[in-house]
Amino acid sequence: MFREYTPKRRNITTDVSAYRKHRNDLKIDYKNRCGYCNDIDTWRFIWFEIDHFIPKTRNKKPFLTIKTETDYSNLVYSCRSCNNAKRNKWPSNNQNIPNINNKGFIDPCDDNYSEQFDRLDSGRIIPKTELGEWMYNAMKLYKPQHEIIWNIDLLDKLIDEIEELLKSSPSDELTSRLLKGYREFKKYVKDLSSAGF
Ligand SMILES: [Zn+2]
Repeated sequence: MFREYTPKRRNITTDVSAYRKHRNDLKIDYKNRCGYCNDIDTWRFIWFEIDHFIPKTRNKKPFLTIKTETDYSNLVYSCRSCNNAKRNKWPSNNQNIPNINNKGFIDPCDDNYSEQFDRLDSGRIIPKTELGEWMYNAMKLYKPQHEIIWNIDLLDKLIDEIEELLKSSPSDELTSRLLKGYREFKKYVKDLSSAGF
């Protein structure tokens, strides 16, 4: 399964002129995950940005007119990797047509977005459809970081589960040492990510 749920944007109808102020709303609405690659932000929060689904500009000219530049329904919580790779790509060149002839994008808040991708047991994202393949290349979803972050996330959950289990069962020296190691490991991964790895 590519992702467990489809993000839902809250209903903000007012003009959110300072869209950067909505970073936290987006973080909550997207449940701390990049809309495009589904990477969790725990390990790289400073690398998370706000993407305009329909690009603001194309070919150095203003492009977005059907929604204002600051319409909340056009904002996507996005990791820097996806945001940078997506840039102002919009193959139809028509704001009302997000994708055409299997080229272009699907809004990540649409259930149909998940249908375009799958995830291997290794954590690697793979495309399932032609449109998925186009997006996969356009947003460089093949980058190894997506696999690495997915696996760190799994390990993090595993360590939490072990901690819970140990609370209810007597721990010997070996288990307490293992747990100490896991805690240290988590701490160092966090330190590494706040250092901007
Ligand atoms: Zn991403």
